[in-house]
Amino acid sequence: MANVKFFSGENIPLEMHKVRMVQRVFLKPIEERAAAIEEAGYNTFLLRNKDIFLDMLTDSGVNAMSENQYAAMLQADDSYAGSETFYRLEKVLQDMFNMEHFLPAHQGRACEHIIARLLVKPGSTAIMNYHFTTTKAHIVMMGGKVEEIITDEGLQISSDLPFKGDLDINKLKKLISEIDKDKIAFVRIEAGTNLVGGQPVSMQNMREVSKICRAEGLTLVYDASLLSDNLHFIRTRDPEFKDADLRDVTREIGTLMDVIYFSARKLGAARGGGILTSSNELFMKMREMIPLYEGFLTYGGMSVREMEAMAIGLQESLDPDVVSQTPIFVEVLCKELLSRGVPVVTPPGGLGCHVDARQFCSHLSQEEYPAGALAAAMYLASGVRGMERGTLSEQRNPDGSETLAHMELLRLAFPKRVFTLSQVKYVADRLTWLYENRELIGGLTFEEEPRVLRFFFGRLRTIGNWQEKIVQKFRADFGESL
Ligand SMILES: *Cc1c(COP(=O)(O)O)cnc(C)c1O
Repeated sequence: MANVKFFSGENIPLEMHKVRMVQRVFLKPIEERAAAIEEAGYNTFLLRNKDIFLDMLTDSGVNAMSENQYAAMLQADDSYAGSETFYRLEKVLQDMFNMEHFLPAHQGRACEHIIARLLVKPGSTAIMNYHFTTTKAHIVMMGGKVEEIITDEGLQISSDLPFKGDLDINKLKKLISEIDKDKIAFVRIEAGTNLVGGQPVSMQNMREVSKICRAEGLTLVYDASLLSDNLHFIRTRDPEFKDADLRDVTREIGTLMDVIYFSARKLGAARGGGILTSSNELFMKMREMIPLYEGFLTYGGMSVREMEAMAIGLQESLDPDVVSQTPIFVEVLCKELLSRGVPVVTPPGGLGCHVDARQFCSHLSQEEYPAGALAAAMYLASGVRGMERGTLSEQRNPDGSETLAHMELLRLAFPKRVFTLSQVKYVADRLTWLYENRELIGGLTFEEEPRVLRFFFGRLRTIGNWQEKIVQKFRADFGESL
């Protein structure tokens, strides 16, 4: 997005790209959407793409690629071992993060698997600002547990704190003093905290955490999957970095961390992932696991074509006009919704617009999965697919009780450079309609509940056929409209 002043005084985000390849999408009538969401067990993960108008499930692996990324895919050097593609990608990453070693892995959770396998021992604790679903699952699978020390404001819906994703330094010091050092697996900073509204972490906070970890001899791990949005916020919200070169910011982050990993389905707008470190010892130990779980060291389970696209995409993700696109669209949608009274997480973060389902569906209890119900209702009302980020995305406790989430959010993600402003306005319009009719939304209950990561493929049903009432009200208000 460019910083362009309009003669009219309006504040219009201006895209710094043009669309040269498109995918036709369809908006099906609400009766067909009702059948589709029923078929999907009221879980938006189980919807089929053909039934979706705007897919705001995630930004994972669905970002628009640039012409240079597509062009690079044609020069990919296909070989099992020693591919030139690998060396090109390795060099880009070494320069970008100022780190010595790079290990390829097929996506973000594969990196988490390797890191957890190496560093998490039964009974050990991983300290972090906030967990991500797959991160926690891997730590728990290795017998460890997670302690979250995000700032208190990070878990409040409304705030004007610019860096709500920061770690609380006092909580960090307290945990370090309470837990035996050899029982702390690592400290983890997640850029752009996925589950709590895409909220960024400040450079000041990273510096402080790094200093403490170095003094205490603790390994500091950085999840850079959502780095590009976080970079935008560092540049626009921290006066120290006003107009800073994002390459310098990223290289400084590299000097603060022991291990950096990322999902290239997000960072780099391709499909893949990787781990970086400057520690020879950690590198040697993690390296052993790559051929076992991922693939040979020069591809790590990825297609060389994707690796070429990633190398270009990573460099493009250091361009301020590129990284600003998602955060600015998120801000536009959040502001539009707030002006109509719809509760959303503030300040607007990266990744997507996060609707507060607990307030939206204040008549539902957390055990009725308000965020899951809102995601299903939003699809019904609009054909827009969002994702539940609340209690459904948690795992039950060993005794079978629910782990109630800190926040009940409907996330409407923005794949990078995929949607237009008029589509954003459509989303705001239908969500506002739903808000006006929010008392129609009822709860959900499981019909089929997987034990691990249940939100991916669990099946639910509505408590009391409330979906029918939404269809009727929609027809009454919109007539024959789609
Ligand atoms: C998506 C994501 C992951 C996992 O990456 P995948 O490529 O989907 O496996 C890890 N951490 C964060 C913060 C993410 O957003």
